[in-house]
Amino acid sequence: MEVKRTVPVKLDVPDERRDDLHTTIEQFNDAANYTIQNGRNDDGYLILNKSKIHDRVYYDLRDQTDLPSNLCVRAYSKAVEAMKSTVADWKKGNSRPLPRFNEPSAVYDKRTLTIYDRSATLSTVNGRVEVEYVIGDYQRSYLDDDEYERRMGTLHYREDEDAFYLHIVVMKEVEQREGVRVLGVDLNLKNVAVTSTGTFYDGGRLLWGQNHHFRVRRSLQDKDTRSAKQTLQQVSGRENRFVLDRLHTLSRRLVDEARNYNCAFIAVERLTNIRDRLDNGNDCIKRQMHNWAFRELREMLAYKAAEHGIRVEDVNPAFTSQTCSRCGHQSSTNRDSSTGWFSCNECGTEYDGDYNAAKNIGMRLVTLPSGKRPDGLGNGQLALKSGTLNGSGDYTAHDDVSADQESTDKPTTSVVGR
Ligand SMILES: [Zn+2]
Repeated sequence: MEVKRTVPVKLDVPDERRDDLHTTIEQFNDAANYTIQNGRNDDGYLILNKSKIHDRVYYDLRDQTDLPSNLCVRAYSKAVEAMKSTVADWKKGNSRPLPRFNEPSAVYDKRTLTIYDRSATLSTVNGRVEVEYVIGDYQRSYLDDDEYERRMGTLHYREDEDAFYLHIVVMKEVEQREGVRVLGVDLNLKNVAVTSTGTFYDGGRLLWGQNHHFRVRRSLQDKDTRSAKQTLQQVSGRENRFVLDRLHTLSRRLVDEARNYNCAFIAVERLTNIRDRLDNGNDCIKRQMHNWAFRELREMLAYKAAEHGIRVEDVNPAFTSQTCSRCGHQSSTNRDSSTGWFSCNECGTEYDGDYNAAKNIGMRLVTLPSGKRPDGLGNGQLALKSGTLNGSGDYTAHDDVSADQESTDKPTTSVVGR
C-alpha cells in the first residue's frame, strides 16, 4: 500500500529573491484564472481535457506571463481540475460560480522544483531561486527517511508569518500487514475512543468543546469589536493546535494498540454517522468543531496506521450502540443513554456502552459479506483483550499478545491528556 504525506517546510528565502516568488505566485494565479475565462471551445462549452486546453491557452500564457513552461502547464492543469469538479457539482444540480484563484500558492513539479535534503531550487519568473529549509524533527523524520520518495511540492506564502513554505509531497510503498485480525474502535464523547481490546482513551476535558480555549472562544464570539475578533482568532488557533496535539497522541496510541494485538485492520464508524450522532441541538460551533476534530483524527489514524501496513476501514455503525455484542439482541432499551451503561435485556450481560459498541463495530467488518470484505481480510477475527472471536462467534484465547493476561476482560484506561 502507498503511504503519502504532505510535509510543510518553512523556507529561508534570500531577501532579494522574495519578490520573484511573490510575482511567480501572482502570475501563476493569473494564468489559472485566464484558463478558466478562456478555456472554452468555439461553441462556448468549457474544455475539460488537458491536451485541448493546452492547444487553447498555453501559447497565450507563455506570451502574457514570465512563467517558465512547466509552471504554465501546472497552472492550466490546476484550472482544469477545478473546472471538472465545478461541472460535476452542476450536474448534481448545485449551482456555484466558476472557480477563481486567489490563494497565495503555486504548484511545482520535478521540472520546476529540485528537492534536496536541506534546500531546494524553484523556478520563478526570474530564473531559479535557491532556498534553505527551516525545519524541525517532524520534517527531518520524513526528509531523512530514504524510503520516502519526494514527488512534488506546492509553494505557499503565509501572510500571518510573512513567510514562504514548501509543501513537499512524499510517498513510500509499505507492505500490507499480514493477518486477519481486526481492532474495533468506537469514537465518542465520553472517552474519545474505546477499543474492542478494552482500552478507554481518556481525552479529559481537552476535546469536544469542553476545554478552556473553547470557553474563552465562546465568550468572545458575541463581542463585535476589532480587538475581540483578533483575540478570537488567536484563541481558535491555540485551541486547534491544542486539540491536534491530543489527536496525534490518540491516533498514535490506537495504532500501537493495533500493533500490540497483531491487528492488520482497524474498523471505525463511517464519518457521516459520527456527525449525526454528535448533533447536539443547535450548537453550531460545537458541531463544527466535532466534525473538524473527527475528520482530523480519522485522517491521522489512517496515515499512521498505513505507515505500519495497517488498514483503516469504515463500517456502517447503525445499531452498534443498541445491540448486545455477546448475544446479538438489539433493542433501544438495552442502553441507558444517560449513564452510557449497557445492560442486555435478553442475556443480562452488562458492559460499558462504548466498549460494547467498539466490539460491534469491529465485528461488523469481520462479518461483512465475503464480496464486500476488504482484500486480505478473509475469515476475519475480532481482537478482544484476552482472545479473538471469529465471524461465527467462536472464541480463541490469545497466544501471541504480551498484554496483561490476568485482567482478562477488565478494561484499562489510557489518559491522553487532562
Ligand atoms: Zn445479550
